[in-house]
Amino acid sequence: MTTACPICTSDTVSLWKTDEADYRRCPKCDYLKPCATGLKPLELNVQIYTEKFDERLSTVSVVDPKRARKYGRLLAAVASRRSTGNFLDIGCGAGRLLQVAAARQWQAFGADPAMTNAASQKRDGITIVPRVLQECGFEDGFFDVVHANEVAEHVPDVSDLVGEIARILRPGGVVVFRTPHYRSWSARLVGSRWRQYGLWGKGHVGFLSVKTFRYLFSQHSLRLNRVETQHFSVRDWWGEKRSPLRRIVHRVCRLVEPIVRLTHNGERLTVWGEKPSA
Ligand SMILES: [Zn+2]
Repeated sequence: MTTACPICTSDTVSLWKTDEADYRRCPKCDYLKPCATGLKPLELNVQIYTEKFDERLSTVSVVDPKRARKYGRLLAAVASRRSTGNFLDIGCGAGRLLQVAAARQWQAFGADPAMTNAASQKRDGITIVPRVLQECGFEDGFFDVVHANEVAEHVPDVSDLVGEIARILRPGGVVVFRTPHYRSWSARLVGSRWRQYGLWGKGHVGFLSVKTFRYLFSQHSLRLNRVETQHFSVRDWWGEKRSPLRRIVHRVCRLVEPIVRLTHNGERLTVWGEKPSA
């Protein structure tokens, strides 16, 4: 089992061990990696998500109004510089975000190795390639926007992924990553019980912090523009236990939320980057 950091090759340090894996952190770039014998991240993730999505492909291809508004806000935010062009969603699933993007005149592309069946469904203005990004063969500088929600924690070589994104973005193009934040207060509070730590069940093979993104972006000449985090909860600490205290704790968590966001300690991390114009 290799214990060198896959991003910067530094020696990693073991933080804790579970039945599943040895969780090791890189002191240089802050990447946290569960190391396990016999782990094949791509095969594991394709298996988990093909089964998950194929079961409900017909329902997930329908965008409900609440989700459509959420996606609309995202597209409005990324469109501060350009409101149409080529849009890529990595880990696109059945392509719900792509539907909303296409309706707003974006040329919408998706890449997802678990989405063979979604890719075969032809829809106007949407192209889904059922492969990992590095195998899609997109042209240099093709995309105005690249979006990767819940992707970074699933890929074995995240530096290679960011390098490919840097290649296919046009100068001035925008990249948005969203991923579980292991440096959040929630994660620190509950330690190894944090629900995002699921190797064989969830396919989460690596965790990034703001420091990791800074390292990755500078490795590939991307500029880090904005960091946001949200959500504070202690539910993993609390478990499923019913208690009158539970509601009070929940309210306290909600009161703490603005501080969590202000100090970038929320458990969902969003990072905005840009490929500098030449
Ligand atoms: Zn590292």
